[in-house]
Amino acid sequence: MPSPTPVYEIYAVKYAGPLISSVAMVLWNTDWEKKIERNYYVWVIRGNGETLIVDCGVAPALAKERQIAGYINPVEVLARLGVDASQIKRVIITHVNFDHISGIELFPNATFYIQKREFTFWIRDPIAKKPPFFRVTDPVGNAYLAKLEGSERLVMIDGDQTILPGIELLLAPGHTPGHQVVAVNTAHGTAIVGSDCAHIFRNYEDEIPSCFITDMIAWMKTYDKLKRKVSSMDLLFPGHDMRMLTQYPLVAKDITRLV
Ligand SMILES: [Zn+2]
Repeated sequence: MPSPTPVYEIYAVKYAGPLISSVAMVLWNTDWEKKIERNYYVWVIRGNGETLIVDCGVAPALAKERQIAGYINPVEVLARLGVDASQIKRVIITHVNFDHISGIELFPNATFYIQKREFTFWIRDPIAKKPPFFRVTDPVGNAYLAKLEGSERLVMIDGDQTILPGIELLLAPGHTPGHQVVAVNTAHGTAIVGSDCAHIFRNYEDEIPSCFITDMIAWMKTYDKLKRKVSSMDLLFPGHDMRMLTQYPLVAKDITRLV
């Protein structure tokens, strides 16, 4: 008889925020005059003797340069959960925007999982140097990522792929050309760490994305794909919603257990 699929827990680890912007920035063209707060997170997936990190956060030097409000080195926040970043073996990169890639150097012993088309766009395509893309780029983090090409520390994923029993990476473009999400088997069914496929829960509820769009049609198809995949809508998690910190059990300062 095959052994049952392992079950994992998912933690949201807030390392910066709140940052304030127009609602229209996180809810496409809605409520220009209203303000909304958002946090910056990385996520921990833990179970079956494994600890995986989703996204790298921001490195201290870039946080200083960009004057990111409420910033704490993700390494320090992870330590509150008993996670030693220097010992982490697997980090999943959802996409190559600065708030998700800049901290790549904080995981010196990790293997990184990224979609091939995401790597190719940000590292090779001259369009990625144009202002709308360059504004959300950390050249230092991208250079570190580029240097890993061809080494054992970088795994290029092409589409949907299971990397461990109960942990599947799904290609989910729209926000960026090769954005990926993580489908995780949990005690409550399949959950998805969706990162910036949606900035807040309302993006999924209202089917209105944020204003950070590289392909709106791909984005809508991604929404449908993720909704089909999750066991219930409350297991589909966004990238920057304040509620990930306030509406789930707090297990340490700035860390909640989502499921
Ligand atoms: Zn983000």
